[in-house]
Amino acid sequence: MKFDVIIIGSGAAGMMCAAVAGQLGQRVLVLDHAKKIGEKIRISGGGRCNFTNLGTQSENFISQNRHFSKSALGRYSPHDFIELIERYGIAWHEKSKGQLFCDGPAQQIVDMLFAEMALGGVEVRANIAVSEIQKTPDGFRVVTTDGQYTCTSLVVACGGKSIPKIGASGLGFDIARQFGLKVIETAPALVPLTFSSADLEHFKALAGVAVPLRVSCHGINFDEDMLFTHRGLSGPAILQISSFWRLGDYLSLNLHPELDFGAVLRREKQQSGRRAIQTVLANYLPKRLAQMIAQKLDFDGNMADLDGAKMAELTGFLESWQVKPSGSEGYRTAEVTRGGVDTAEINAKTMESKSVPGLFFIGEVVDVTGWLGGYNFQWAWASGQAAGQVA
Ligand SMILES: Cc1cc2nc3c(=O)[nH]c(=O)nc-3n(C[C@H](O)[C@H](O)[C@H](O)COP(=O)(O)OP(=O)(O)OC[C@H]3O[C@@H](n4cnc5c(N)ncnc54)[C@H](O)[C@@H]3O)c2cc1C
Repeated sequence: MKFDVIIIGSGAAGMMCAAVAGQLGQRVLVLDHAKKIGEKIRISGGGRCNFTNLGTQSENFISQNRHFSKSALGRYSPHDFIELIERYGIAWHEKSKGQLFCDGPAQQIVDMLFAEMALGGVEVRANIAVSEIQKTPDGFRVVTTDGQYTCTSLVVACGGKSIPKIGASGLGFDIARQFGLKVIETAPALVPLTFSSADLEHFKALAGVAVPLRVSCHGINFDEDMLFTHRGLSGPAILQISSFWRLGDYLSLNLHPELDFGAVLRREKQQSGRRAIQTVLANYLPKRLAQMIAQKLDFDGNMADLDGAKMAELTGFLESWQVKPSGSEGYRTAEVTRGGVDTAEINAKTMESKSVPGLFFIGEVVDVTGWLGGYNFQWAWASGQAAGQVA
C-alpha cells in the first residue's frame, strides 16, 4: 500500500507518466474509477487515434499563459512519440495538416502504453473510487474504495469533464482547490454548437449538409468543413471555433473564402442574367444551402433582377453570414474541457505544484487546451513525460 508515485487517472497522460516513472525505477500505482482503461484513446480520432500533430507549437493551445506548454512540448516532440510507436510496429499515416493517425485500431496505442507500464513494473487498478486525499508529513494518503495508499508523489491525471459516460469527473479540479490552487473556469470545448428552437425550424432542411468555409470569432479564423446537424452546427470548423466562442457571441461565416463573391456575382449577372439566383449560387455552394439563402434573403428572381443594393446584400451574406448559436452540446459530446488548473500554480518544466511539493498535474486537467488535430494527445504525452521524469 506504499508507493513512490500514485497517479490518479489512467488516461493518455497518466499512462505515459506511469511508464516513464516506472522505467526510472519508481514504485508506481495508477488508480482509475473506470471499469475499462483507455476508453477515450480507443474511441479517439474516429477509432484511429489522431495521436499527434507534426506542427505542434504552443500557439495551438489555449491557456491563460500561452508560453506555459513550450517547455514540456519542446522536450517531448511528435517525433519522440512516433519513435515510440514505431518500436511497437504501429503503422500510421498523415491525414492532413500534420495530423497523424494509426492505420489500424486505436486500441494499439492503449496496448502499447500498457506494455510500457509493464516494463516499468507499474501497478494499474481500475474500478476504484478515490474518496479523499490527505497530506502526510512525507507525502500523501489516498483513501479509496479499495483501502488506503500512501505515496511520496501524487500525480493528478484525471482529465477534464468531457464525456462523463466514459469516466470524466471534476476530481482533478477538486484536488487542486483542496490544496488552495486556483482553477481557471472550465467549459466544454471542441464541441458542436446548438441553435434555438426558432433558428432550428429555419435550418432543419439543411441537416446533413456539409460546406467548406472560413469561420471567425474574436478575430480567430479556421478554414475547415462545417456541418449542419439536427441540433445546430458541427464539423471541424465549428469544433475548432467552439473553443473561442462564448455565450452570446456571433460566428461569422465566409462561405467561399477563396472567392471574391462580389466579382463572381457581377460576372454571373452579365453572363447568366436569366438564370435563377439559387441555381447560380448552387454552382458555388451545396444546393440545399443555395436554396435556403435565396429564400432567407427573399431573392426568388433571376440574376438580372439583382440591383446594386441586392448584390451588396447577397455578397455581404455570402462573405460574412452572422449566425448566433444559442449554446453548445456541453460535456456530453465535447472532446475536451477548456480551462483547468491555473498554469501559474505549476512548474512548467516538471508539472509540479509550486506551493505543494510532490503534487503534480498533467494532461487535460491543466489549463492547456489544444486545437482539434492531435494537439491534445501531444500535450498529454509531453506533460506526462515531464512529470514522470521527476515524480
Ligand atoms: C471522442 C473524443 C475523441 C478525441 N479524439 C482525439 C484525437 O484524435 N486526438 C487528440 O489529440 N485528442 C483527442 N481527444 C482529446 C483527448 O482524448 C484528451 O485531451 C486526452 O485524452 C486527455 O488525456 P488525459 O490523460 O489528461 O485525460 P483522460 O484521457 O480524460 O483520462 C483521465 C482518466 O482519469 C479517470 N478519472 C476521471 N475521474 C476520476 C476519478 N474521480 N477517480 C479516478 N479516476 C478518474 C478517467 O476514467 C480517465 O481514465 C478526443 C476526446 C474525445 C472525448
